[in-house]
Amino acid sequence: MRKKILVTGGAGFVGSHLCKRLLDEGNEVICLDNYFTGNKNNILELLNNPFFELVRHDITEPYFAEVDEIYNLACPASPVHYQYNPIKTIKTSVMGAINVLGLAKRVGAKVLQASTSEVYGDPHVHPQTESYWGNVNPIGLRSCYDEGKRCAETLFMDYHLQNGVAIKIIRIFNTYGPNMNPNDGRVVSNFIVQALKGEDITIFGDGTQTRSFQYVDDLVEGMIRMMNSDKSFLGPVNLGNPNEFTMLELAEKVVKLTGSSSKIIFMPLPQDDPKQRQPDISLAKQKLNNWEPNIQLEEGLVKAIEYFKNIL
Ligand code: NAD
Ligand code: UDP
Repeated sequence: MRKKILVTGGAGFVGSHLCKRLLDEGNEVICLDNYFTGNKNNILELLNNPFFELVRHDITEPYFAEVDEIYNLACPASPVHYQYNPIKTIKTSVMGAINVLGLAKRVGAKVLQASTSEVYGDPHVHPQTESYWGNVNPIGLRSCYDEGKRCAETLFMDYHLQNGVAIKIIRIFNTYGPNMNPNDGRVVSNFIVQALKGEDITIFGDGTQTRSFQYVDDLVEGMIRMMNSDKSFLGPVNLGNPNEFTMLELAEKVVKLTGSSSKIIFMPLPQDDPKQRQPDISLAKQKLNNWEPNIQLEEGLVKAIEYFKNIL
C-alpha cells in the first residue's frame, strides 16, 4: 500500500537518501526543508516524480499535512553548522519535536526521531549501549545539539506515554556518503575534499580519538526497518557500524584511496570532543530482523570519494 510520508530535513545528506528509497518503494513523499544545510541538488533527480513534493518550511513553525508516517531529521548535524547559531539549533530540535509530535497526534501518524550518539556525550561506557545515560556537558559548545537531541527524546517518550503517539527513536552514529556537503565540516567529507584538492589534511588533536563510521545506505535500511518494527518497540536503538577507527587511521586510508600527495597536519582539539565512540548494536540486531551494516569503511570511502570527485 502506498503510504504518505513526511521527511523533515529531506534535502539534507541522510534525508535525500531516505526520500529516494521511500519513493523507490512506491510511497508518496513530502520533503520539508529550510535549506540551512540541505541543498536542492541532493533531491534534483526526485523532482520529476509525481509522488514527490518539496516544501520550503522551517520546522520550528507548525506544519500541517495528512500523513501516515513522519521521519524527523530536520537539524544541522555537523559541529561547524550547529554551533553557527546555537539558539536556532536547540529550537530546531525542541520546537521541531513538539511540532512533529503535535502533527502525529492530530493525524494519528507514526513518528521517528533521528537522535544521535551525541546523547552519550564523552562516554564512560564503551561500547555504548542504549541503557547508558551518557556524559554530556549541559553548558558547552556542543550542548545546543546534544541537549536539544536529549530533550527531543524526552518529548517523544512523553507524547507516547501521555497521548499514545506511536513513536520510534533511533540513535545514529557517525554516518557518511554521497550528498554530504563539501563544506559540511565533518571529518569524512573534510578529509576526502582536502585529499582531492591536495590540501593539508587537518587532524584535530593527536588523532587518537576514535569514531565508528557507517555508510549511509546501511543507516537508511535500519531507519526503515525501525519504522516498520513491532508497535511495542519504541527504541531508542543504536544504528551504527561497530568497526572503530582513530582519526589518524581514517586520514591514512583517505590518502591511500585517493592517491593524494596531501600531508597530514595536527590542529587544536575542539572543546568537549568525545574521545571514543562505538555503538553496541545487539538491540538493533535482535529487534530489526538481524540488521547490521553491510558496507565497511574502505568500500564506503571509495563510493564517497567517487561522489566528491564528480562534484568538485
Ligand atoms: P544535514 O545537515 O545534511 O541535514 C539536515 C537537514 O535539515 C538539512 O537539509 C537542513 O537544511 C535541514 N534543517 C535544519 N534546520 C531546519 C529547520 N529548522 N527546519 C527545516 N529544516 C531544517 O545532516 P544529516 O547528516 O543529513 O543529518 C540528518 C539528521 O540525522 C539530523 O537530525 C542529525 O542530527 C541526525 N544524525 C546524523 C548523523 C550523521 O552522522 N549523519 C549522526 C547522528 C544524527
Ligand atoms: N575532526 C578532525 N578533522 C576535521 C574534522 C573533524 O580531526 O577536519 C575530528 C573531530 O575533532 C572529531 C572527529 O574527527 O574527533 C569526528 O568529528 P565530526 O565533526 O565528524 O563528528 P563528531 O565529533 O560529531 O562525532
